[in-house]
Amino acid sequence: MRIDCKHVWEHISAYIDGEVDAGLRADIDRHLETCEICSAVLDSTRNVVVLVADSRVFELPGGFSGRFHARLERELS
Ligand SMILES: [Zn+2]
Repeated sequence: MRIDCKHVWEHISAYIDGEVDAGLRADIDRHLETCEICSAVLDSTRNVVVLVADSRVFELPGGFSGRFHARLERELS
């Protein structure tokens, strides 16, 4: 299955948490190898997740996901 960037973003948190199934993980891995944008998204998303996990008291600010995606949309267009 060929997946696009939006598909990757939808699953990126689950991907980082290891909650996607093996087939989807393979699709995302393959996409990441060829897509600089999604590699960057993965890196920054992972940093945020680590930050949240380490601090434990902090949660992603409301609207973070929407703003993040809006920025991505701008960078892609
Ligand atoms: Zn991509």
